[in-house]
Amino acid sequence: MGLGITFFSNWLVTRSEKFLINWGITVTLLTIGALIYGFYTEFPSPLIGAVAYTILVFGLSLVWGVSREFRCGTLPHRAVFTIASYASVAVGLPMLIGFDGISYIFLNFVALAILLSTARDYWLSRAEAPLSIGVLSSFYILIAASFIPCAVMLLQSRDWHLGHAPSNWAEDLNIGVSLAGLVGIGAISLMLNQVRVARGHKIDAETDVLTGLFNRRALFVRATAILNSSAAFIIFDIDCFKEINDLHGHLKGDEVLRAFGQILKECSRAEDLAVRLGGEEFALALPRSTMATAINVAERICTYFSQRQFDSASGEFCSTVSGGISCVEGKSDNLEVLLHRADEALYMAKRTGKNRVAVRGHPEECELSSKEQHTRNRADALNQAVN
Ligand code: GH3
Ligand code: MG
Ligand code: MG
Repeated sequence: MGLGITFFSNWLVTRSEKFLINWGITVTLLTIGALIYGFYTEFPSPLIGAVAYTILVFGLSLVWGVSREFRCGTLPHRAVFTIASYASVAVGLPMLIGFDGISYIFLNFVALAILLSTARDYWLSRAEAPLSIGVLSSFYILIAASFIPCAVMLLQSRDWHLGHAPSNWAEDLNIGVSLAGLVGIGAISLMLNQVRVARGHKIDAETDVLTGLFNRRALFVRATAILNSSAAFIIFDIDCFKEINDLHGHLKGDEVLRAFGQILKECSRAEDLAVRLGGEEFALALPRSTMATAINVAERICTYFSQRQFDSASGEFCSTVSGGISCVEGKSDNLEVLLHRADEALYMAKRTGKNRVAVRGHPEECELSSKEQHTRNRADALNQAVN
């Protein structure tokens, strides 16, 4: 019961983790079931026994439900209720009709199966905190195993009408292991919850709310790991974005920003870092990439974005974006240097007509990317032909 209260009070503080309140309910159910079972050992009435077992079976099913909630995010209400209902009938009915020996054996097997499934569910989510979750799974396996000798003893006795709660060394061992295990499980569950809360805060601090991309802070935190000796860096700035806000409204502007964020994410590799620097400025850090790769990626992003159509009250519209690229050129190049160079290239892309990509070349000059250069050369040739 104390554990249950601890989980409830922790849930009241954190609120975000529903897993804790469900754990509180689970521990409370198991405690009530155990108390009624204690009463049954003194006054062995089939009805009291059936009630105690039903509550214990519901508590055990919730133990499994909470482990699934921990792994997948939602409590499988229906599955918990179905398992608990079938198991209650299997365990409670023989008790009510006088076959309490069979009822005990079923209860032990139900507990064994549910606790092993619980251990499996936690084990499958071990990547989150391998050591703690490994220990947690072991606790569940240990408690599950302690039900086996109880069932074996009853099967060996072949006494299907006991008329009282079984009492032998296996039962004592089971109670001892379950109590000790539950305390350990409670402590680890609380710790895992704290780890999750802390991780959630870190993710929030490094995520841009509007686009779901990393924010500027994340870029600076991860810069040294990403910007190795052969990294490329692209800055994007949506063209004439103020006009979009003015013509179609701020909300439509937000939709354009989200769409660009999506394209940025879709066009990047898992190891790249897609960032919203602020306003309508974005960045893409590409570790282990050449200038040629960066140009390719940037141009693809520009093309996809220019093809994206947006609906608004004043009709359909498209938007464009310009990009500036820089590459690590020497050992002393840090994020500030790359940002500065990419910014210079971006300025060049804006100055020469927008909706294009420019690179920061050696040693001081900016130039349009080869594709832009090619397009411009063709345009110049066409102009000359017309004139
Ligand atoms: P340029 O082509 O030279 O880049 O011009 P621009 O209009 O894109 O650039 P400017 O800096 O003049 O305007 C950027 C606008 O972006 C101004 C600001 O109100 C808007 N903005 C910044 N953050 C947000 C946001 O989160 N949502 C929306 N809808 N607008 C934003
Ligand atoms: Mg800008
Ligand atoms: Mg802009």
